[in-house]
Amino acid sequence: MLNQKITSILLAASMFTVFTANPVSAGIIDTAAGINAVRYESGAAAGSGESDQNRLFTSLEEKQEAEKAVLMKIRTETAKAADAAEEAADEALDCAEKTEGEEIEEAADSAVLHAENARAASDLVAAANDMQTVEMTASIAEAAREEASQAAAEAEEAAQAEADRAKKAAEEEAAAKAKAEAEAEAAAREKALASAEYLGTFTLTAYCNCAACNGSAGNPTASGVMPTSGHTVAMGGVPFGTKLLIDGTIYTVEDRGTPYGHVDIFFDSHEEALDFGMGSADVYLIKE
Ligand SMILES: [Zn+2]
Repeated sequence: MLNQKITSILLAASMFTVFTANPVSAGIIDTAAGINAVRYESGAAAGSGESDQNRLFTSLEEKQEAEKAVLMKIRTETAKAADAAEEAADEALDCAEKTEGEEIEEAADSAVLHAENARAASDLVAAANDMQTVEMTASIAEAAREEASQAAAEAEEAAQAEADRAKKAAEEEAAAKAKAEAEAEAAAREKALASAEYLGTFTLTAYCNCAACNGSAGNPTASGVMPTSGHTVAMGGVPFGTKLLIDGTIYTVEDRGTPYGHVDIFFDSHEEALDFGMGSADVYLIKE
């Protein structure tokens, strides 16, 4: 009689458990949905940049930490409640065995209390089952994170390969351009040489734009332009702009100060001019 009553109470309690919303479970489900959302976002945002990814990972880790905390709490409480329920069941059995007559009502009340404890334990076990789902979503989230990380690494690799390819193409283009320029220069020189007229072996000296060389420093040439190294020479007897080929370099007569047959070569520094000193060379007139 008493056992039947306890059984029916327990049955009602378990039905109640099944159909009652559990706030802990609801919270866990919300968290799981959040993780799935994060997982979706992390997959979509994999290629969108390092900072977005870091934000995602931080958010994910916070969620996982929160889930772990809930898990630990539920496990502890489930263990306690399970112990309490076991104890309650033993006490209910003892009550049923010992009770007679009027004590039946008291025993029934006690059994209801024990059944309520059992129901609470059942609730917590259900929550623990939900927690397994959370653990599963945590592992899914971890997998999503790894996927995102891998996708980011692949994207970085692809970007690096693209950058390398672009750099190589730019280098090849620069090399081709330099080669074309060198070839054009060589062709121009060859053409100039082909039409060059030998003038004779001339005296060569050097000067710069200092006071020692010119009386005063920083003056323009007699033709009016500022002298430049590797380009300007001085010599009388030919018009300004005359081009002379001397030891492989084409100079332009832009200055005076020496007679025809004596080429004064301009240098940027007095030291260079001194180093050059004095000499002689075959001089050719470049006709254009
Ligand atoms: Zn000088």
